[in-house]
Amino acid sequence: MASLFLAIGHGVQTDGTWDSGTAWNGYTEAELMKPIVGAAIPILEAHGVDVHTDYPENDMNITTCVAYANEHGIDYYVSCHCDYDQAPSGTLPIVYPGSGTSYNLASAINASVMLRMGIGTRGILQRSDDWEVRGTDMPACIFETGCISKDIDILTNSAAYGQAIAFGILDFLGISYNGGDTPAPSPQPTPTPSPSNPYGFTSIYNSDYYLEYGDGPDENITQFQRDCNFCGYWGENGPLVEDGYYGSESEYACECVQRFHGLDVDGKFGVNSDLALMTEIAQIQEALTKHGYNIAVDGGAGPATINATKDFQSKNGLEPDGICGDNTRALLGI
Ligand SMILES: [Zn+2]
Repeated sequence: MASLFLAIGHGVQTDGTWDSGTAWNGYTEAELMKPIVGAAIPILEAHGVDVHTDYPENDMNITTCVAYANEHGIDYYVSCHCDYDQAPSGTLPIVYPGSGTSYNLASAINASVMLRMGIGTRGILQRSDDWEVRGTDMPACIFETGCISKDIDILTNSAAYGQAIAFGILDFLGISYNGGDTPAPSPQPTPTPSPSNPYGFTSIYNSDYYLEYGDGPDENITQFQRDCNFCGYWGENGPLVEDGYYGSESEYACECVQRFHGLDVDGKFGVNSDLALMTEIAQIQEALTKHGYNIAVDGGAGPATINATKDFQSKNGLEPDGICGDNTRALLGI
C-alpha cells in the first residue's frame, strides 16, 4: 500500500503563530487549501492509499510536515498551495531538479487538474531552494493550485478540486478509479507569447546560453544583478549582491521578472527574460531623457543611468537610492 503525506499549505508556524499564506479579498491560502485537501483524503483512502496529513487541525508547519514524512518513511509527499494575487492564472507544480519520479507525480496531478478543472498551467517548475521539495527524502511536489485572485472561482470549488488532485495521484500510482478511468493526457504549458521588442534589442542569450542556479562567476550575471536591483527585482532577502554568482537569490529575482512580464516562471534567465528586462529599463531611460538627461537608451542599468536616476530622485524629493521603484516611475510618468 502506497503512503502519502498530503499537506495543507501554511497554517501554524514554528513559533506557534498563524500563517495564513497569501491573502486576497477576504480569502486566505490556508483556508482555501484546507477543504481541497479535505476532499482529496477520503477518495485516496477509499482506493487504498495510506494518507498522512495535517488536516483538519492544520497544526503542523512545513518543517514539521517534512520531518514527519521523513521519520515515518512515507512514500510520497504533496503540499497544496495557491499563488499570490499578482501571479498569472494557472497551476504551477514545483519539484526538486533532477527527480524524475517527483516530476511524474507533479505531471500526473497537473494533467488531472487541468482536465477536470479547466485551468491552464504555467508549467512544472524545478526549484532547488524550496524547503518542502529539498528537505523531503521521498518524491515530493508542491502543487500551486492557481492564483488566489484570477483563479478564485476554481479554487473555491474545493470538492471538485480535491477530487481532481486525488485522481491525479491515483493516476500516478496506477490505481484505477470510477471503473478504470484512463489517466488524463499530459498537458503542455500554455505557450508564452514572445515578448514584444519595441526597441529592437538583441539579446546575448539563446537556447544554449542562459543563466541558471549554480552558474558563475560570469560578468553577465553581474549585469543581470545590477539590472534587477535597478528595477527593484530583489531576492527574498533584499537587493542582490552584485557578485556574478547566480544563486537562489538571483533565481528568485529572475522569477519576479518573469512573473511581472507574464513569462514562463522557471528561474532561468534567458532570451525572453532578458528582452523583457531590457525593454523595461529602456522605458525608464527614455523617460529620463525626456526629463533632460543625456543617457543612452540601451536597456542596461549602467553608471550613467543609475546616476541620472539618483539625480532625478533628489531633485524630486525622493531618496536618491538609484532604484527605480513605483514612486520614481510615477514621477517619471511611466
Ligand atoms: Zn504557499
